[in-house]
Amino acid sequence: MTQATVRNINTLSKAIEEHNYRYYILAQPSIEDREYDRLMQELIDLETKNPHLIQPNSPTQRVSGEPTKDFSTVTHSEPMLSLDNSYSESDIEAFHRRVTQSVNPGRVSYMAELKIDGVALSLIYKNSILIQAVTRGNGTQGDDITTNARTIRSIPLKLHKPNINCEVRGEVYMEQGDFIKINDLRKKASQPIFANPRNSTAGSLKLQNPAVVSERKLRFFSYSLIEKNSNLTLQSEHLNRLLSLGLPVNPNRCLCKSLNEVFKFYQGFSETRASLPYEIDGIVLKVNNITQQSLLGHTAKSPRWAMAYKFASYQVRTKLINIELQVGRTGTITPVAILDPVKLAGSTISRASLHNADEIQRKDIRLKDTILLEKGGDVIPKVVSVISTQRPNDTEAYQFPTTCPVCSHSLVRDEDEAAIRCENPRCAAQLKRRIEHFSARGAMDIDGLGPAVVKQLVDLSLVQDVGDLYSLGIEKICSLDRIAIKSAEKLSSAILASRAQPFDRVLFALGIRHIGSTVARTLSRKFRSIENLKSASLNELESTPEIGPKIAESLYTTLKDKSMITLIEKLKTAGLQTQLSDDTTDSNKGNPLIFNGKNVVLTGSLEKIERSKAKTFIEQLGGNVRSSVSTKTDLVVFGQKPGSKLKKAGELKIDTCDETQFLTILTEAGLEL
Ligand code: NAD
Repeated sequence: MTQATVRNINTLSKAIEEHNYRYYILAQPSIEDREYDRLMQELIDLETKNPHLIQPNSPTQRVSGEPTKDFSTVTHSEPMLSLDNSYSESDIEAFHRRVTQSVNPGRVSYMAELKIDGVALSLIYKNSILIQAVTRGNGTQGDDITTNARTIRSIPLKLHKPNINCEVRGEVYMEQGDFIKINDLRKKASQPIFANPRNSTAGSLKLQNPAVVSERKLRFFSYSLIEKNSNLTLQSEHLNRLLSLGLPVNPNRCLCKSLNEVFKFYQGFSETRASLPYEIDGIVLKVNNITQQSLLGHTAKSPRWAMAYKFASYQVRTKLINIELQVGRTGTITPVAILDPVKLAGSTISRASLHNADEIQRKDIRLKDTILLEKGGDVIPKVVSVISTQRPNDTEAYQFPTTCPVCSHSLVRDEDEAAIRCENPRCAAQLKRRIEHFSARGAMDIDGLGPAVVKQLVDLSLVQDVGDLYSLGIEKICSLDRIAIKSAEKLSSAILASRAQPFDRVLFALGIRHIGSTVARTLSRKFRSIENLKSASLNELESTPEIGPKIAESLYTTLKDKSMITLIEKLKTAGLQTQLSDDTTDSNKGNPLIFNGKNVVLTGSLEKIERSKAKTFIEQLGGNVRSSVSTKTDLVVFGQKPGSKLKKAGELKIDTCDETQFLTILTEAGLEL
C-alpha cells in the first residue's frame, strides 16, 4: 500500500511539475486550470493522509514557477505567495472556521476583491520613483523586468506623493479585446496563438524587446502595499492609500462583515464577469485586519488569512436539436451540434463542433438530449457531457450515417484516424470547399470568390474543378445572381491575375491532404516543378526534410490520380505556375533563399528582434531553426549572455554571427524588420 502511495505521489508530483513548467515558463499550458487544480488536490489529499511522505520540494510545499535565465534574478524582500483555492461555499465556511478559531476572540471582516487572471508583479519605489519591477518567480526570487514594466501605462513611474519608499504588489493583465487583436496578428504571422489573456500577459512580460511589450497594451491593478513604519491597520486602508499614491486599484471590491455578504459578492460577479473587459477567475477573500493577518501567518505556499474562491468555468445547459454533418474539402465529415440558442460568456451559441463519430459515441450524445456546454479561456464552445437525468425516454444511440449527406456516396473510415470520409472526388460539397480553399488568401488569393459565388458556380454546374475557373469568362459570371457587370469584370480579372501566383502557392491551393503552405514551400524548393514531383518515388518524397510518410503517401497517390493529372494539365494550359519561376524565389516575396536548407540555432537573448520573429525570418529565407548545436548546425546566431551553445559552436568550428550581423543579413536579403 505504502509503495503504491509513494508511486502515486511521485507520479502526481512529476505531472504537476511538468504542467508548472509549461504554464509558468513556456506560457503554453496543455491542460485546463480546473484539471490542474484537481491533480493538485489529489496530491494534497494523499499527502494529508501520509504526512511522512511529504517531500520538501513537493509542488504542494512551494510557490510554483521559476525565475527565467533571460533576466537577472532578484530576491524578494518578503516572499510573494500564491493563494489557496476554494470552489464551494462549504470550503469557504471551513476557511472561515479556521480563521475565527485562530484569531479568537474577535470579529473577522473580509476584504473581498476580484481575482484578476493575470501575472503577479512587485514594484519597488524609492523616493517615489519606480526603480524596480520583479515577477513572482518561485515566490522567493523572480525576474527583474523593470524595462518591460515601465512600458505599462497604468504603472506610475512616479508616485503622487513625495519621498515614499514602498513596495507595491499587484496583477498585470491584458484586456480581452487586446488579447483577441494580438492573437489575430499572430494567426496571420503563422505564430502559435495564446490560449488566454493570462498566458499572453506572461509571454509578453518575458519578451526581450520593451518596444514590443509596449505594443501588447498590458495593464495593472495593485492590491498590496508594503511600507515601513506605516500606521495603517486594515487592508481596506491599504487599498485607499494605494489609490492616493496614484496606483490603480480595482473598483470592484467589498468590505464584508459576514459570509452572506461574501457569497453575494461572489454570486454577483460570477453572473456578470463576462461583461468586464478583463478576465477574472474568482474572488479573493482577505482578512481585513492586518494584526489578525499576522496572527494567522502563512504556509510556505500561501497566506492563511486569504483564500481564492474560484468560479466554475462558464457552463450552461441547452437542448441538442440536430447533428449536422459538414463535408470538408478532403471529404472529412465533421458532425456539428445544432443547439437551442443559448447565452454563454457574453455570446449566443447555436452550434458547437462534435469533432468526429468517436466523440459522439464516447459521450453517448443523442438527438433531443440536454447537454452541458462550456467555454474555457478560449472562445470555442465545447460540449462537455450529456445531462443523462434529462434524457427523454424515446431516444436512441446516434447512428453515424454510412453515406455522404450531400452526394450519397458511401463513407469510409481511415485506418488509424478518427475521421470518416466521403471518397467521391465529384462530391459537390467537397468541390465547393476545394474552390474556397483554392481561392483563399495564402493560396491563389482571388478576391471576390467567396462562398456565396462558389455555391452558385457549383450548383449551376459552371465549374467541375478549379481549372474551370480560368475559362469562366465575364458572361458566365454575370449570369450569377446578384453579380453586376462591374463585379463580374473585377472577379474575372482577379482570377486571371492569380495565374502569376508562384508554384508553391499553386501546390498548396490544390488542397492535397496533409499538404499545408509550409510543406508546399519545402516541396517546391526541393523538387522545383510539378513534373518532378509527379515522377518522384515515394522514397524520394519521404527523404525530404520535414516530409513524413503520411504526407509523402498522400502526395504520391494523389499525383497519380487520373482526375488530378487532368486538372494539372488544365491549370498548365491556363498558364498557372507549375514550376519555380527562377532559381531562387518562391512565395516569399522574392527574397533570396540565403538560408536554404541550412540549420540555424538561436542562443542568448536577442534585444532588437523578438525570437519568434527571428525564427519566422530564417524560415522565410529557406532555413530551419534548431534548438541544439550539433555537427549538422550551419550557423549559430547569438544575443546577450549566449551560454554553452556558442561555446559548442566554437568547439565544432561552426559559423556564428551576433545579433547586429544577423539583422544586417536579414535587411540585405530584402526583409523589412
Ligand atoms: P492563483 O493564480 O490561483 O492565485 C494566486 C495569484 O492570484 C497571486 O499570485 C496573484 O497573482 C493573483 N491575484 C489576482 N488578483 C489578486 C488579488 N486581488 N489579491 C491577491 N492576489 C491576486 O495561483 P498561482 O500560484 O499563480 O497559480 C496557480 C493556479 O494556476 C492553479 O490553481 C491553476 O489554476 C493554474 N495553473 C494551471 C496550470 C495548467 O497547466 N493549466 C499549471 C499551473 C498552474
